Amino acid sequence: IEQQYIRNFCIIAHIDHGKSTLADRLMEKTGTVTLREMKEQLLDGMDLERERGITIKAKAVAMRYKYKGREYELNLIDTPGHVDFQYEVSRSLSCCEGAVLLADAFQGVEAQTVANAFLAMEHDLKIIPCLSKIDLNHARPAAVIEEMEQTLAIDPDEVQAISGKTGAGVEELLAAIIETVPAPVGSREDVLQAMVFDSHYDKFRGAVTYVRVMNGTVKKGDKIRFLRGETTHDVTEVGQFIPTPRATDELCAGQVGYLICNIKSLELVNIGDTVSIPGPDAAKPLPGYQEPKRMVFCGLYPSDGQDFEQLRDALNKLRINDPSFVFEPETSDALGFGFRCGFLGLLHMEIVQQRLEQESDVDLVQTAPNVTYHIINKKGQEVEIHKPQDVPDAGEIEEFLQPIVRVSLLQPSEFIGPVMQLCTERRGVQVRTEYLSPTRAMLVYDLPLAEVIYDLHDKLKSATRGYGTMDYEIRDYVPADLVRLDMLVNGKRVDALSIICNRADADRRGRAVVKKLKSEIDRHMFEIAIQAAIGTRVIARETVKALSKNVTAKCYGGDISRKRKLWAKQKEGKKRMKSIGSVDIPQKAFMAVLETG
Ligand code: GDP
Ligand code: MG
Repeated sequence: IEQQYIRNFCIIAHIDHGKSTLADRLMEKTGTVTLREMKEQLLDGMDLERERGITIKAKAVAMRYKYKGREYELNLIDTPGHVDFQYEVSRSLSCCEGAVLLADAFQGVEAQTVANAFLAMEHDLKIIPCLSKIDLNHARPAAVIEEMEQTLAIDPDEVQAISGKTGAGVEELLAAIIETVPAPVGSREDVLQAMVFDSHYDKFRGAVTYVRVMNGTVKKGDKIRFLRGETTHDVTEVGQFIPTPRATDELCAGQVGYLICNIKSLELVNIGDTVSIPGPDAAKPLPGYQEPKRMVFCGLYPSDGQDFEQLRDALNKLRINDPSFVFEPETSDALGFGFRCGFLGLLHMEIVQQRLEQESDVDLVQTAPNVTYHIINKKGQEVEIHKPQDVPDAGEIEEFLQPIVRVSLLQPSEFIGPVMQLCTERRGVQVRTEYLSPTRAMLVYDLPLAEVIYDLHDKLKSATRGYGTMDYEIRDYVPADLVRLDMLVNGKRVDALSIICNRADADRRGRAVVKKLKSEIDRHMFEIAIQAAIGTRVIARETVKALSKNVTAKCYGGDISRKRKLWAKQKEGKKRMKSIGSVDIPQKAFMAVLETG
């Protein structure tokens, strides 16, 4: 197909604004799938979803569409919906020339509408603004168009009204995509240069690499090289998703499709990498490449110590599918042998954990997650900190740095007060306030990531009766007055319970955590002291009283020698447990330190 008849675009929207429904309708209108196939496929997809615990959908669909007597190739590239995968969104956008921007005709402009629209503008994409779900009875199109104009400087005359449900406006949208989104530029004769924007792992065929060809051509039998990954492979198949994978003869400049090269692990396939040819004639790497940034770490332990090797196997297997999470063995006095794992963000952490539990039989204990800190030591070296236990003694720290994010919060104006208070409590610094309309406002704050990831979203929802939405992007690492707060159980530091927090909050957090631990730890045969400490300084204490119940009560009177034996045992037990600090700490307690933020 000639380049002038190709259009590459994505759909961007706040969650639930109708992206998937519209995508299905586009596939149907272009005859890519029939209604019957779509239903079947949907079911397949759900099975897979259940099996793998994450949404698996075609991430790039090639559609053929006849318009004014010409056949066009319309490539719809899917973008992940969550901020954890923002880098992947930006790589997907760099493969498109246009973006269909949806705003729900009732809900209006939300945080991710704004974030995604700005991202698309940064990538110089032609934006086709649309009101979605116009079939809704309570749609308020005029107000939503005004919000789009106010926040995103969108020309009201350009806004199209569509419904993925009824199909209204979908043909007009296809026409607009063809008429207004520029055809890709780039030369078929040049040396191969293609962007890797996604990948998935196929049990039978290995890595399937999703590419947008910028220049040149790639076909079966070619030798290709990943320029950043610095590995060379033979191409065994090229093709497109229509919407299931279908082999084609070649992929040319401007086209979107997949490569299969007999690669046994996704670790070799880096999103954002450039595919070219081996040797000195290779094309230049495309700009914008980044290593995945693991912003959140937690410990994962088998709840039964026996399962350690099983957990390692499961982690290895998962990493073949998802190279953006990392792990390394660690030991904890409290939990034994396990792994410290790094994730792109909190949702990514949940996805990985869910998959681990589904795909292997290991029962997991997870420690409280923490963000990645940086410490500049007295020698002037900057080191990454992935867990509280790694924080050196205060005397060795020159500077303690934490990641800051810029958060956009959108809500009806009446909730501005409570939302501002929420952000201030979390050490937010206000950047600006914007009115989208007389009744909706956007607050922009810089906040420590640590204050955002755990529950800011939930707190925002409750502060705004569910109407608030938020989005954030990582800004920078900045110095902060942070300390490592340790928890001692009967005088012994429980490494997995340490947290990093602001010095000013340490007293309050310390008191809250020991209180919470007291409520989580059952009474034992002996007294348990629970303390919070910074270095050697204890700042809070609670006591779990010993069980007063006399064990001999179970003996129903009777045999005195048996009673004596029990007393002796009980005494011995008391001593042993106390001396090694062997207190049963329930698994819940390891997450309890979070809820006291
Ligand atoms: P996504 O999260 O952006 O992919 O949104 P979905 O396409 O999954 O849609 C979210 C919800 O809105 C679903 O319950 C859909 O059935 C519903 N929905 C999507 N499009 C329309 C539409 O055009 N009209 C109506 N009434 N509902 C819609
Ligand atoms: Mg969806």
